[in-house]
Amino acid sequence: MGSSTSTRPARSTVPVVPAPGEKRHHQVLIIGGGNAGVSLAGRLNRYRVKDIAVIEPRSRHLYQPLFSHIAGGTADAFDAVRLQSAVMPRGVTWIQDKATDVSTGTKTVLLESGSAVTYDHLVVCPGIQNDWAAIPGLKDAMEGPYGGSNYEYELAPKAWKLFRELTSGTVVFTQPPGPASCDGAAQKPMYLACDYWRRTGVLQDIRVVLVVSTPTIFGMDIIDEELTRKIDEYGIEVRYSTELASVDPEARTVVLRPSPDGSTGAHGSTGGSTGGS
Ligand SMILES: Cc1cc2nc3c(=O)[nH]c(=O)nc-3n(C[C@H](O)[C@H](O)[C@H](O)COP(=O)(O)OP(=O)(O)OC[C@H]3O[C@@H](n4cnc5c(N)ncnc54)[C@H](O)[C@@H]3O)c2cc1C
Repeated sequence: MGSSTSTRPARSTVPVVPAPGEKRHHQVLIIGGGNAGVSLAGRLNRYRVKDIAVIEPRSRHLYQPLFSHIAGGTADAFDAVRLQSAVMPRGVTWIQDKATDVSTGTKTVLLESGSAVTYDHLVVCPGIQNDWAAIPGLKDAMEGPYGGSNYEYELAPKAWKLFRELTSGTVVFTQPPGPASCDGAAQKPMYLACDYWRRTGVLQDIRVVLVVSTPTIFGMDIIDEELTRKIDEYGIEVRYSTELASVDPEARTVVLRPSPDGSTGAHGSTGGSTGGS
């Protein structure tokens, strides 16, 4: 038996790139190599499950919880990125491709490359796709000069640039009302930005509006109490039971409406707010 010398880093998984028409089989097949897919693969691997494969098209793994800190100026964008090859558990097969169809009848997943993978067990965890087009004007606002978000890797450094350069005006923060990845995380960059504006002496010249679809700030008394203390401290205007209806990126205005669950909270109202400096 000969010895082998690897020039690859210690933890690095080389992806399988299937050829069109190719057929493979795996005992456990996981669609999506984000936090859920990778951690599940790692856990099953530790339980000595053999033959696990993860389908993941991207070469970069993004650690989403850090996006809030990138937008809030307390982390570098670089820190949220790892090579997918470095986070894939050793011994797990990484299929670098995109799942396009699942047939539970034949236990087959079709891939974008035109190849197919059959499985004994399938786990589907492709995450959530942000639908910016669901709110009129929001996509244009995100692509324009005055919109930013911690919900996309590319938009988080842009948000921090906007916060950093702002010295006066109105900023509207909104929390997604529908299914969203960690919806409360929408508030994190706001507190960090307020802290920055206070440190740099401009907070009193900036009107900060927070739009939440719920009647309280978080929904748990102990957390509501603490967040309300910070909201009062920073002078944030909260529009409870309210959601974003539309954005006019040219005029830099937003239209708000009562959230469908009805009750407009104590501070709730429908109206527009301007954004920017
Ligand atoms: C701004 C923000 C802050 C957050 N803060 C926190 C926090 O503080 N604490 C906390 O616990 N959670 C937090 N979360 C939530 C946490 O990041 C998510 O719950 C977690 O990343 C979800 O992991 P996932 O694997 O389900 O999805 P993702 O991490 O989105 O991964 C999904 C993967 O599936 C892949 N994929 C998509 N479609 C296909 C396809 N057709 N075929 C193959 N692969 C596909 C994608 O390329 C992606 O790599 C935050 C999220 C955000 C956005």
